[in-house]
Amino acid sequence: MKLAFFGAEGKVGRALIPVLENAGHEVRGFELGDAIDVGGLDAAVDFTSPDAAPANVRTALEQSVSCVVGTTGWDPQPLHDVAAERGLRLFVAPNFSIGAVLMMRFAQQAATHFPRAEIIELHSDAKKDAPSGTARATAALIGNDPVIHSVRLPGLVAHQAVLFGGEGELLTIRHDTTARESFAPGVLLALQKLPELPPGLTVGLDALL
Ligand code: NAP
Repeated sequence: MKLAFFGAEGKVGRALIPVLENAGHEVRGFELGDAIDVGGLDAAVDFTSPDAAPANVRTALEQSVSCVVGTTGWDPQPLHDVAAERGLRLFVAPNFSIGAVLMMRFAQQAATHFPRAEIIELHSDAKKDAPSGTARATAALIGNDPVIHSVRLPGLVAHQAVLFGGEGELLTIRHDTTARESFAPGVLLALQKLPELPPGLTVGLDALL
């Protein structure tokens, strides 16, 4: 596919673009300040910031280009109609790591037996939003409005533990992303499945697995 990549020089962009190219995609990178001209491309990928993503995605959709978005900390719902009325797809996932999606699924399963839970999410100090999109999505899945603790420190990539407390026992479900390449299989899967999705917004890698 011919792809636009918003956030090409970011931490995720630098890790993902070589993997996308090795998989046979042709990637045109965009950074902050670049004029957005994506007309004629097959899809746009956005890993930028919560401030930048809404305008990038709206502009791509207005140029008839479907989008795959990993940027967290913003609400894509208002762009559903912009995509749907043009017959385009907008796929947004708070976490593109397949291990993290399984961690959320297992946490949802555990929550049916353990009503008391808290979430600890840990990310690099460069991450702009807190709590993370993954922690928010996990909280929505397990219900009961669990407390979310956010840690931002150098040395971290993306990590989350969901702790379930019961009488005399503690269950911890934990996932660690140790390198940003872990997001590549999920992004490749989203690009592959994009044409099969209904027009408009689809949220979460779970919908594709
Ligand atoms: P990052 O290192 O800060 O990279 C973001 C890049 O986007 C920077 O190079 C930034 O440029 C650039 N940028 C800012 N505004 C832009 C614009 N309008 N158009 C094009 N590029 C623009 O952040 P990151 O670690 O790569 O993460 C990016 C986003 O992805 C964050 O929201 C993060 O939470 C999210 N994320 C999601 C997943 C997932 O699985 N869904 C995984 C990892 C990260 P400047 O430096 O000049 O501002």
